[in-house]
Amino acid sequence: MVKPVIAIVGRPNVGKSTIFNRIVGERISIVEDIPGVTRDRIYSSGEWLTHDFNVIDTGGIDIGDEPFLEQIRQQAEVAIDEADVIIFLTNGREGVTAADEEVAKILYKSKKPIVLGVNKIDNPEMREQIYDFYSLGFGEPIPVSGSHGLGLGDLLDEAAKHFPKNKPIEYGDDVIKFSLIGRPNVGKSSLVNAILGEDRVIVSDIAGTTRDAVDSPYTYNGDEYVIIDTAGIRKKGKVYESTEKYSVLRALRAIERSDVVLVVINAEEGIIEQDKKIAGYAHEAGRAIVIVVNKWDAIEKDEKTMKELEQKIREHFLFLSYAPIVFLSAKTKKRIHTLLPMINSASENHSMRVETSVLNDVIMDAIAMNPTPSDKGKRLKIYYATQVAVKPPVFVVFVNEPELLHFSYERFLENRIRDAFGFEGTPIKIYARERK
Ligand code: GDP
Ligand code: GDP
Repeated sequence: MVKPVIAIVGRPNVGKSTIFNRIVGERISIVEDIPGVTRDRIYSSGEWLTHDFNVIDTGGIDIGDEPFLEQIRQQAEVAIDEADVIIFLTNGREGVTAADEEVAKILYKSKKPIVLGVNKIDNPEMREQIYDFYSLGFGEPIPVSGSHGLGLGDLLDEAAKHFPKNKPIEYGDDVIKFSLIGRPNVGKSSLVNAILGEDRVIVSDIAGTTRDAVDSPYTYNGDEYVIIDTAGIRKKGKVYESTEKYSVLRALRAIERSDVVLVVINAEEGIIEQDKKIAGYAHEAGRAIVIVVNKWDAIEKDEKTMKELEQKIREHFLFLSYAPIVFLSAKTKKRIHTLLPMINSASENHSMRVETSVLNDVIMDAIAMNPTPSDKGKRLKIYYATQVAVKPPVFVVFVNEPELLHFSYERFLENRIRDAFGFEGTPIKIYARERK
């Protein structure tokens, strides 16, 4: 599940995002269906022949008001930090520019493999434009055309040659993998320390991926856990680490490898758009979710404060109505001990399987209580339902006509299923399928 990562770097307008879109195709998720969550096309998965990988468009990471050269320098740094292979993209129509040479200078210093792409070679007659680019010192330049979709296979063949050979070992199924996501300064790093600093936590050496020992495996009360990407959470100091796009990128990468995601927000500052966006990705990825309100020590409280804040959180995160909320303080360690039981139960619910007969009793009771809707004289008929997957739980209901299962009735069924079985902390999905 840990896929190799390709990052695309290069000065503006060489065609990075065009190439990125070509590589990832239409697999971009539909996050924008969640209010307040907009599409961030800078990180996605791709496939080429037998290879599965992820791609980063570093051009999408804007580094505040920094001057132009500083921006591309930072983007190259992101590529060096995050990727297994870097595609250095240039523009064949303009030849080698000073800005290309600046990028090259930064890339020389990295030990990561570099593949040099020369874009905008839209037809074979233009191929000779690539020779100029040998001067950059990254070997053979590969001609591509993002807008015409030419040469991408050659580019990806070359990149795939450099994918890490040793497949990282995955953690066992019994190990609960969780990550902490949230914008900078909400206290993720402090929380990791507080969790690992708890009495009776035994930092263990369960076999794991740890390509560069990024995770923290540990045992508590006999259960095994891994905090995903502890190294990334603790990393501080680079300018780009405080940018929004970069924190989204880190969150996406952590979510990918987690069962349970702790969405951390800051009690002092409340909720902003960025919090919603990050939480939206975890929801959409189908991970179990616990909302953690940190810095609870830092605010003035009376007996109503918690209720009020909870209500506000529920309003902002409508799509996370299933996620429990914990109020705690990494600093004073207050209620830190309530976190692990929450993680355990969210994880259990995430992989819970319910019996088909009981499920169907619940569905039939639901229909009796609230008859199925009809549309243009046709009534939805539900024949039976079955759970087809876990992590997250997925249910298929067999019906006469799937289009008749409208969102509101689906939501009603979801609520009945939740009332009957719990599923706190995990999203569940319901699909209608036609049974003739
Ligand atoms: P980025 O800033 O590096 O991400 O560059 P973009 O992907 O936004 O592309 C910059 C411009 O170059 C856009 O107008 C693209 O349509 C154009 N472009 C991208 N790839 C090609 C190509 O292969 N051939 C030509 N002729 N134009 C391209
Ligand atoms: P991260 O960027 O999300 O990893 O956040 P950090 O863990 O680096 O914390 C950011 C700042 O918030 C630091 O100055 C911490 O000392 C402070 N901080 C973290 N947790 C708490 C907390 O529970 N209460 C208070 N008052 N401050 C906290």
